[in-house]
Amino acid sequence: KKAIVWIREDFRIEYNEALATATQNHEYVSAIYIYNPKNFDKKREAQKWWLSKSLENLSIDLKKLNITLEVQLGDELEVLSILKKKDDVTVYWSKVYEPDVINKGKKIRDLFIKNEIQYKYFKGNILVEFQEMTKDDGTPYKVFTPFWKKTEQHYISKAPSKLIRVKSKIKKINIFKNSISIKEILPKKNWHKKFEKYWDPSEKEAKKYLQELINNKIEDYGDARDIPGVNGTSKLSPFLKFGQIHVETIWKKCQDIKVKKIGYRKYINELGWREFSHSLINYFPQMLKGNLRKDFDNFPWVKNDKFLKAWKAGMTGYPIVDAGMRELYETGWMHNRVRMIVASFLVKHLRIHWMEGEKHFKNCLVDYNEASNVAQWQWVAGCGADAAPYFRIFNPILQGEKFDKDGIYTKKWVPELKNMPNKFLYKPWELETKYQEQIKVIVGINYPKPIIDHVEARNAALDAFKTIKKN
Ligand code: FAD
Repeated sequence: KKAIVWIREDFRIEYNEALATATQNHEYVSAIYIYNPKNFDKKREAQKWWLSKSLENLSIDLKKLNITLEVQLGDELEVLSILKKKDDVTVYWSKVYEPDVINKGKKIRDLFIKNEIQYKYFKGNILVEFQEMTKDDGTPYKVFTPFWKKTEQHYISKAPSKLIRVKSKIKKINIFKNSISIKEILPKKNWHKKFEKYWDPSEKEAKKYLQELINNKIEDYGDARDIPGVNGTSKLSPFLKFGQIHVETIWKKCQDIKVKKIGYRKYINELGWREFSHSLINYFPQMLKGNLRKDFDNFPWVKNDKFLKAWKAGMTGYPIVDAGMRELYETGWMHNRVRMIVASFLVKHLRIHWMEGEKHFKNCLVDYNEASNVAQWQWVAGCGADAAPYFRIFNPILQGEKFDKDGIYTKKWVPELKNMPNKFLYKPWELETKYQEQIKVIVGINYPKPIIDHVEARNAALDAFKTIKKN
């Protein structure tokens, strides 16, 4: 008679098979979220903010269905171990595709079997589960294009089933004692406060973003997605991470309009990268701890705390890099093109290990996703699957000139350069001192000198790369 819906990364009512099935099958339904500080503390500070807001919003939406969201603190296994056969409950949840979470899930299923607790779990926020997708010879894909071609076909051929709807006449129950206050989850440091200006982590907002994508962005997405000064991407990434929207909902909406709006293919392709990343970290979980390409294990990374600090603070003296890092710190999100530029700068110009960058992104991104973050950092560093070759080194001056020609993005995030003529925006040190004085930007005084010379850094990176080739 009784059901518990265990919310993990599916903070939504619509298109939520676990929740819908529980309400259809049971008279009494409760929901639980287990906050395990080990997964967040000092690692995912920005996401603590997103999580606490998501809990607040989901709790309101569930209340309308007469379901209480009980927030518990602790290790998932310990919290769930209080359920006993006599409680007569069935636990429902959706899958999460991260190796650690999968391992923990196995232990929880064993516990439920031991304690004779019924449970049911469902597909998570993905189009095709990684277990269903291998090459014809049974080995996993390491190259994106054939992976995506087959995955997309497979998804289309399966035609997603019509989902059942949430039943509204539910009787309320509380199963757990001592729910914690959602406010306890908020990071102690106040820097996240400003995120409220930029985001509303709710299902309603996710739907609005999707509609905005379909109405105003998808047609030009192919070009606009590369221009950080244009709001040309969907910004759905944090909503996808927390499941405020299901990727199948996005897929279906895109399919409905595909004939009219040409950018849709490119957009769907990006969703494909998300699927590919999930497949990679599950078939090659060693990627989470180091390079996928073993020849990179001997790469001569440089340890330089001063450079790392300047990079994190957006004070490298390269305006497009600094703009990206400041956008990240201010909003918890960074434009994809700029993510590639700042990541390349860290691993190639500064030759600092990609894992340092990965860790910083993990702490600051509201859309942090283990699969995409690790796979993309290794893609940029050249040590991942289907990666950009290490020797292809982004020139931060040309990248700025090409993708933020008018400086809209750079001047927004690095306001001290707002009067810099565009000709010098990406190399302000080349502007003659007398002109610098006139516009009140003195390089080395109120905007940093480049922490490293581009040409020297490039050559040093290429030399370093040669050493791994020899090995
Ligand atoms: P859109 O352009 O609207 O794309 C739609 C969706 O497709 C995104 O929401 C995302 O789910 C997916 N997507 C797009 N590009 C990629 C990609 N290259 N790889 C995987 N999925 C993609 N994305 C994350 O979601 N979490 C991360 O932690 C993350 N870390 C990254 C780290 C680096 C170094 C780089 C270069 C990229 C990273 N990305 C990450 C991928 C990408 O930058 C973001 O998904 C994208 O910027 C999110 O903005 P959007 O929703 O407007 O994207």
